[in-house]
Amino acid sequence: TAPFNFSAGPAMLPGAVLARAQEELRSWRGSGISVMEISHRDPAFMQMAAKAEQDLRELMAVPDNYQVLFMHGGGRGQFSAVPQNIAGQNDTVDYLNGGIWSDFAIREAQKYVARVNVVGGLIDTPQGRAIAPVTDWQLRDDAAYFHYCPNETVDGIALHTIPEQVQAPLVADMSSSILSEPLDVKRFGIIYAGAQKNIGPSGFAIAIVRDDLLGRAQTTASTVMDYTVQAKERSMYNTPNTWAWYLSGLVFEWLKEQGGVAAMGEVNQRKADLLYQTIDSSEFYRNPVHPDYRSKMNVPFLLADDSLDADFLRQAEQQGLLGLKGHRYVGGMRASIYNAMPLAGVEQLVEFMRDFEQKHA
Ligand code: PLP
Repeated sequence: TAPFNFSAGPAMLPGAVLARAQEELRSWRGSGISVMEISHRDPAFMQMAAKAEQDLRELMAVPDNYQVLFMHGGGRGQFSAVPQNIAGQNDTVDYLNGGIWSDFAIREAQKYVARVNVVGGLIDTPQGRAIAPVTDWQLRDDAAYFHYCPNETVDGIALHTIPEQVQAPLVADMSSSILSEPLDVKRFGIIYAGAQKNIGPSGFAIAIVRDDLLGRAQTTASTVMDYTVQAKERSMYNTPNTWAWYLSGLVFEWLKEQGGVAAMGEVNQRKADLLYQTIDSSEFYRNPVHPDYRSKMNVPFLLADDSLDADFLRQAEQQGLLGLKGHRYVGGMRASIYNAMPLAGVEQLVEFMRDFEQKHA
């Protein structure tokens, strides 16, 4: 039941996880002290941390030749970690520019490597915004890696297929799509994600790094951001974000109880279909993205008459449908429908949208 939170974050957490965390924040495993007061070197904490890693490995079917790292600094921390870790200062790297977050990643990478080659980007088509087809990409043979963001959180644009033509190791920013559906991890060199959408609190990141990409960090790379050091230290080179690690572990357990990523993927597909069908079947609402490139996690939509935006948001909020205001860069509305959003939330949203349309069309 309402309220339902359609915000893009920071953290989107299932109610069951929050309830458990509340209790364990007071007393962890009956110890009488908070989970936040336990040393990260305490065997019980280490065991919890290792279980979180193991659960994530299971959920994503991460092969053994990949490290699962729990890093500081959120998604943007990885924007700088990636080039410093796996490219040399004189190297060329390929980036697809599929939206705002890709653009930020490109600008960060430019600080650490000689050449960031933008292989392609957004295009306008009669059916809406899309990403340039892979056949048009200007890939470089000598690229140290290829970076893209499969789900652009702000633009609501997604690349649903893993680009096959790319020879360089694939690096993917999955901040807003990780764990939302099954994924073939072995196709990637690195998968990373700021934790705060489908995993846990902000300021934290997961990096899944193939072993052959270790040992390449630039000598000037920051040690806390060094994948090789963090892999060796089991992500405890310095004090990790114990709160985020702990809470992420609870989310992984919750995901397993829900039936894992296959089950999540089915629900997420139904949520997205329902919302896009509602938008497409009306002249009152509009989504600007080509149907093949629509995000299943972040659904931006515009009202035909934007003078009704404020009314829409106010009335939605009165019904407990929260966080629908679009990102400040693009305006309009945006419904973020991460794993923690149940189908019932989207059902209520579309009911409200139809109702609002009837009253104002
Ligand atoms: N990448 C994507 C796809 C995102 O959606 C975000 C944040 O929303 C980021 C990167 C940046 O994450 P952070 O704010 O943790 O640095």
